[in-house]
Amino acid sequence: MLYKIITTLVLLFFGVCTAAFPHDEGLSAAERYLTAYPDFFVAYEDGCLRTVTGEKFVLDDLIDKNYDRMIVDTAAGDESFDPQDAFCWEYGSGEPIPTEENPPIGDPGRIRPAVIFNYMYGAPGTDRGKDMRKVRWVGSAGGKPRTVAVTTVNGVDKALERVAREIMDLPDEKMQSLKGVVFDVAGPYGYFDRPVRDYPNRTSGHAYGIAVDINGNLSYFIGSQRDEPYCYRNNVPGFIVDIFEKNGFIWGGRWNSYDAMHFEYRPELLLK
Ligand SMILES: [Zn+2]
Repeated sequence: MLYKIITTLVLLFFGVCTAAFPHDEGLSAAERYLTAYPDFFVAYEDGCLRTVTGEKFVLDDLIDKNYDRMIVDTAAGDESFDPQDAFCWEYGSGEPIPTEENPPIGDPGRIRPAVIFNYMYGAPGTDRGKDMRKVRWVGSAGGKPRTVAVTTVNGVDKALERVAREIMDLPDEKMQSLKGVVFDVAGPYGYFDRPVRDYPNRTSGHAYGIAVDINGNLSYFIGSQRDEPYCYRNNVPGFIVDIFEKNGFIWGGRWNSYDAMHFEYRPELLLK
């Protein structure tokens, strides 16, 4: 408790310079938002994240939630989650790629609290499309360079450009192994204003312009396995996941409800 009070005072005093104060359990939820999104969140005070425009968002609504139930409950909307809830599962950044024998636990990143994401990227019904920019992606289709639309908010477009450059700089042998994963596949798919598939009240990362599907036809997605017994499947190699994670994107292959083609800009989940 005393530690929390001290941390809060330090945060109040130093504003966004929270990365300088790591503690044993890693950064707190508030510190993660302040560090990951300095354009939007400037302080943590009285249990609230204070925004650059003066709003205060309660970090933890103290409502007990059963998170397994929250993923199973397709009617629950983004409004039912507070900012703290986004961290209900630890994201395994840098950890070995999950396998059929060792599938991921939980779905870190599938909780997108409305108060945070609508504030930064725009609420449903607003013109989020105006913030999108087409970024050059790897490879070509029909003799033309491939592009993908993502948001310029939080520098997501620039982060994705860094990803594309790093993939293009890979040695030939690694590039060859990406046929059917990144090259010679349908896509990529970025901005698309739609709810999460099967969750009509949740906004997709694609609708915020923060998500990219690197593959539209040869990847693995739990939604196409609904009538079979659960079996984790993936064809995306670890070195691609590393490149995305290094640049602020989480991977849907680290979700128990896996979506192995899906990457999403969520730097708050990658901070330790
Ligand atoms: Zn996706």
